[in-house]
Amino acid sequence: MHVFYSKERKGNILILEGGEVKHFRVRRIEKEEEFGVIYEGKIYLCKVEREEKSRVICKIVGQLETKEPPKNITLYQCITVELKTMDTIVRQITELGVKKFVPVISERSFRKKETIKKRLEKWKKIAVEAMKQAKRPVHLQVSEPMELEELEPIHEENIVLDNFYEGIKVRNVNLTAENFGIVVGPEGGFSEKEGRILREKGFKSVILEPYTLRSETAAVSIVSILMNC
Ligand code: SAH
Repeated sequence: MHVFYSKERKGNILILEGGEVKHFRVRRIEKEEEFGVIYEGKIYLCKVEREEKSRVICKIVGQLETKEPPKNITLYQCITVELKTMDTIVRQITELGVKKFVPVISERSFRKKETIKKRLEKWKKIAVEAMKQAKRPVHLQVSEPMELEELEPIHEENIVLDNFYEGIKVRNVNLTAENFGIVVGPEGGFSEKEGRILREKGFKSVILEPYTLRSETAAVSIVSILMNC
């Protein structure tokens, strides 16, 4: 089923605007065809009431059952030098149900704050595309960038993925925890000092077997393992 995204509800009506109208027209929805519209954390079943020049007026005819992610995961992703990789990570972790995405500035990450701040808007847009595709009703929270030194182990289970350190295996993480914070390095990994700082603060260093992964593979793998354990 096609799913769209609305920011405006009036009684039994949901309104599509801007890029959503374009998306709607591309899909060539028939008169009586039902489709989904995400609005404030729910997905409604809708039909077209009428089309205007720059808006589509949708009538709510039902509500779809939606699922909650089994774990509350925050991903602290060191900003990859290749910014396109971050776009991929945002898309995939949105599909997987990550709650919050925090771009992190580390020694070997992309470091230009102004560029990063501009990119935040793009990441929010990508996350909305991914939530429609995944039929995820709740937004990915995209946070302002943080410095690696500012990270604190504030979650129930705090993990750093570090391929340079002989860490514990995923099965030795507390898999029954519900709230996770995960730190993933950029292409060049963490410096030795960064790894040490995080471990001393209380982040558990985890190693994924058997090989060295790209940042995006590492991030997506750990999230999908934790969501399904
Ligand atoms: N340039 C490094 C690889 C860094 S991989 C090298 O040549 O060895 C980028 C990030 O992905 C790492 O900082 C880590 O967070 C994560 N990662 C990749 N493979 C991993 C593994 N096997 N175990 C844990 N983390 C891994």
